[in-house]
Amino acid sequence: MDCGGLLDPALPDRLQLRSGRAKIAVLIPFAQRAAGDCTTLAAEEVIVPRKPIVGGNWKMNTNRGSAASLASAVASAHQDDSGVEVIIFPPFPYLLEVGRAISGSAVMLGAQDVYHEADGAFTGEVSAAMLRDCGCRWVLTGHSERRHVIGEDDALVNRKTRAALEAGLSVILCIGETREQRAAGETDDVNTRQLTAGLQGVSASQSGRIAIAYEPVWAIGTGLTATPDDAQAAHAAIRATLAEIFDPSTAAAMRIQYGGSMKPGNAAGLMKMPDVDGGLIGGASLNAGDFSAIVQAAVRA
Ligand code: PEP
Repeated sequence: MDCGGLLDPALPDRLQLRSGRAKIAVLIPFAQRAAGDCTTLAAEEVIVPRKPIVGGNWKMNTNRGSAASLASAVASAHQDDSGVEVIIFPPFPYLLEVGRAISGSAVMLGAQDVYHEADGAFTGEVSAAMLRDCGCRWVLTGHSERRHVIGEDDALVNRKTRAALEAGLSVILCIGETREQRAAGETDDVNTRQLTAGLQGVSASQSGRIAIAYEPVWAIGTGLTATPDDAQAAHAAIRATLAEIFDPSTAAAMRIQYGGSMKPGNAAGLMKMPDVDGGLIGGASLNAGDFSAIVQAAVRA
């Protein structure tokens, strides 16, 4: 069994402790680690560090000039990746310009969408290889606006997720319930369904290049935000589902971001929760000062 790359064979078997931010402790049996199996026997505590991850989804906003100046401002605030990964997702036409503006900084480039075919007669679509060619390292899949405005279903989200991973991109897979689903008590069921379908055919060895964004649809762009306790409950359930899809140590290592009207004023409260590993930010990412304040909240969480 693959132990998820969490263990350092150079350290003694008594205790393996990795430095870095540690939001969760898991028990991994060292006697079995030696035998290549992480499931049973006496356990030692292993701290699993999850580096927070903050993304700025610009959606269909900015123009060529404002995209470049916003990217420059974000880049100058994040020259080194001191404890947090920062990604910005500009509109397709500005990827190259924004890539130039953040070059040399710790900020990474991401795309808001991808098509699952490699090339061919797919007018208007953009492949994973094209995104890589433009300097992208990340892509969003399953964003609620693509699901609920454009009409993407779980099967298409899965095809896009797999194509992006196979092309070497990292993926933020977005999931979350609508207001009606929440009122009907279906939050965990919806998240489980979207996760299970979205990650169909994805291997545990690819999980290091996947982050999950829990974005309740009713909170996106509305000014409404899940309470820290509600977000934590959803994130814990998502992590339990990831443990079923992959395995517990893989799930413990995966980052789960919260998205939905995250602002400088509520970011710290959300990100201090044990299973909240950063944020996916829409509106507030269009203001470099607000976005940086949220990144700083992630560093301190
Ligand atoms: C988003 O677009 O993913 C998002 C969370 O938007 P907002 O922060 O504006 O709610």
